[in-house]
Formats: sequence, structure tokens, C-alpha cells
Amino acid sequence: MNLTLADYIAWVENKTLNPRDVVLHYLNKAKNNDQYNAFISVPEQYIHDNLDDYSAKVLRAAPIAIKDIILVKWSKTTCGSDMLRNYDSPYTATCIEKLHSHGGIMIGKTNMDEAAMGASTETSAFWKCFNPHGTNRIPGGSSGWSAAAVAGDLALAALGTDTGGSIRQPAALCGVVGLKPTYGRVSRYGVSAMASSLDQVGTFTKNVSDAALLLWSVAGYDDKDAQTQPRDEEMIIRSEECKKTDLKGIKIAVPKEFYAEWLDPKIAQKLDEMIQKLQEKGAIVEEVSMPTLPYAVATYYAIQPAEASTNLARFDGLKFWLQDDTFTYDNIKDYYKAIRSKGFGKEVQRRILLGTYALSAANYEGIYMKAWEVREKMKDDFSKTFKDYDVILGPTTPTVAWKMGEEPKDPLAMYMADIFVCPANLTGVPAMSIPAGTVENEGEQMPVWLQIMANHRREDLLFHVGKVMESVV
Ligand code: GLN
Repeated sequence: MNLTLADYIAWVENKTLNPRDVVLHYLNKAKNNDQYNAFISVPEQYIHDNLDDYSAKVLRAAPIAIKDIILVKWSKTTCGSDMLRNYDSPYTATCIEKLHSHGGIMIGKTNMDEAAMGASTETSAFWKCFNPHGTNRIPGGSSGWSAAAVAGDLALAALGTDTGGSIRQPAALCGVVGLKPTYGRVSRYGVSAMASSLDQVGTFTKNVSDAALLLWSVAGYDDKDAQTQPRDEEMIIRSEECKKTDLKGIKIAVPKEFYAEWLDPKIAQKLDEMIQKLQEKGAIVEEVSMPTLPYAVATYYAIQPAEASTNLARFDGLKFWLQDDTFTYDNIKDYYKAIRSKGFGKEVQRRILLGTYALSAANYEGIYMKAWEVREKMKDDFSKTFKDYDVILGPTTPTVAWKMGEEPKDPLAMYMADIFVCPANLTGVPAMSIPAGTVENEGEQMPVWLQIMANHRREDLLFHVGKVMESVV
């Protein structure tokens, strides 16, 4: 059916569709025909229990996939990790409470890279996922399963988390719209913390209008997350700008640092083509310099592991699952070592070691604090740019989706997949990945997506420019 959220709601309201039929159709797909391996659990009872109630609300029980890092009482929350294989969610995250209050229904939990660390769906403790645009290709990560669920029409939309690109990168590689809102726009309460100063819940949708609608449904103040702000009805009203079909008066900056040697020339060409199309729509597009951008990966991979190593310290096999009576150990240190070696995969262990190292007394000033200084400078770069420009345009990913098994063996090379996406997390600004057409890669047409970023709380500009970009492709 490949329905968008907006079409689904309109068709339910004019009685062309019956929500029960649609939800049961998607439930059946999630249970019996999940050809991309997207779902890790499907909460059948919860769907039957809530369908009628949610059908009466704005979203009309629209089936939404939820990344398995977000707690929903009726399901387990594994975070793609052996450590939490049997962990029952004791309560429901605020963003899901808000989704429910507007009538969105969880159609299933989507698997993920372990603890949200990864860029290819290859670090989950459970299984990999296929890219619907070429099932021999990776769908990106860490929310690759959520992106595939939307691209493969296993759900109308999905919620994921983006700490260093985990929504935008897989959305781009799978060819759907991925939105990371402003830091604090959506509550993190009930979302397993990865790197707290970077984590943000966001959306996967089939188009830009749906992103605005889904964001509106889950955003807003929460007294359980001190970083949240009121929902900002203004943003929604300004999103009416979505209806504008031209870009007169809009100034777009393209940082020259984005044209780096690691950018696939075919993607650079798509960026150039897009610039021309946006100029034809009335935008003023200019090249700028943002000298901190090349340091994004180095900065992110100092701060993210440091925060993650602290957040993951609670998983010691005592309070959370993975009590294993078969372990023999002489002392508590051996016990922790055994549990954490068994419960965490290689990538998570690597980040815990990196983070602990960055925070150690000898390195704290030289690595962690240094990274914070660069982060502050990067924020200055962004504020300066946003004084003169409405949005920043650039690539989302340096390459198209690579083939399974061809992933870089060197973790540093893999980390470079995040070069264009992590600046938005480091600075807290909203960013969205938008279609730019396809390019030929080894005989296959693969989607290429570009990224736009706006100043804090200016998602409305992303929706406006994003809609126009969508219309010119
Ligand atoms: N590729 C990023 C990482 O591995 C993704 C992080 C995220 O956004 N969850 O850290």
C-alpha cells in the first residue's frame, strides 16, 4: 500500500479505509512477512487492546515502528544487546505516551545496532537487516531496522534515536526522510541513554509533511526531562510555511569543508545539481567556510564514548538482566569482567574502553575537555553561519549504502560514515535528510540524500526547504 501518514488519516476520515483493516494488515506483515528482518518483537495483545481507542484520535491508530531503545510497557526493550535480551520495560517513555495520546499505535519494536553504536546494522547481538533498495546492501545504522521498516512499507513511519546520525544516515541509505529535531524538542525520559548530551528522539517518514506531523505528536515539555521545552505551537503554525512552494527570501549556506576528499564525487555532483534547482526556486545559495567541520568525527568519538561508558556502567548483570548462574568467579571484579564480556559485543566494549580512557585522570584534560572546547568552537561556527543564513545544506553520507560484508574492517574508517551527521548532534541543531535522486553504483540505482540543518528550534525552516527539495527531485 505504501501509505503516507497524511493519506492514511485522510482516507480513514473520508471512510475509504478502515483503521482496523489497515492495522491488522501491517500486523500481519510484521509477524509473518518481515522480509527485511526489521522487527525484534511484535506486541499483538497491546495492538488489539488499544486499536479502537487510538482509532478515535488524530493519528487514527497509524501503525508506527519503534526502535528498541525506547521503553514501551507492553514490550521488552533489548537495545540490540545480549545484556538486555530479556529486559521487560517497566514503564513507557514520555514520547510514546504522547504518541498514544494522539492515537499512534506501535506496530512493533525494531532491532538496532547494540546500544545504538554502529552505522551498518552489523553490531546488533541478534541479526542484521536488509536495505529494501538492494537486499545485498547494508541499511545504515544504528536505526537501520527502523529505516528499512519505513522504506519497505512495514510501517507508515517510525521513531528512532539520533546521537550521531543514527536516524539521518540509515534514512538516507534506505531512501526515506529522517529528522533529528533540536536537542530537547522530544523528551528522553524512557529512552535508554547512550550519550546524554547528544541523544535525541526523531522520526522516519515517507515524506516531509509526515515528519512535521509525527514530530508534533511526540514533542513537548516533560517534567521528567529537564532539557525539554514546551511543544511550541508556533513551530507548527510556522510549519504552514510547508505550503510555500518557492524559496524566495531563503538564504542557504553550503560549507566548502563538505566537499572533502572522502565525499563520493557522484554525491558531490547531486549536491551541485540540488544547489542549482534551489536557486531556480528563488533561494540565495552561497559557499561559506565552517572550519571546525572536519573535526566532527574526532570530537564526537571523544565525547560519545565518554558519556556512553558512564551510562553503560549500570549494566553490571545485577540490577539489569544477565545474571548467569553458570559463571564461576572468585571475586566481584572477575564477576563484572565475565558479565560485561559476555553481555556486550566488541563495538560496545571498544567504546567503553575508549570512553574510560578519555575520562581517566591522566587524559581527561587532554582528550575529553579538549573535545568540549572544539564542540564550543563548532557551536560558534554554527551561530555565526545562522546569523546570515536560514539553512545549511550538505551531504548526509559520504557514500551510498555499501554491500554487506564490504564494510570497512577498520573501525576508524567506519566512524567516517558519521562525518556529515554528527555536527548537528554536537551543536544540538535540528537536521533532516532529504531525497536528491539516485546514482548508479555497481550496476544498481541507489538513493542519494542530502542534509539540511537550521538554527535551534527552527524545524519549520527544514520543513519549508525540505518540501521544496522533495518537489524538485
Ligand atoms: N554511528 C554512530 C555511532 O556509532 C551512531 C550513533 C547514534 O546516532 N546512535 O556512534
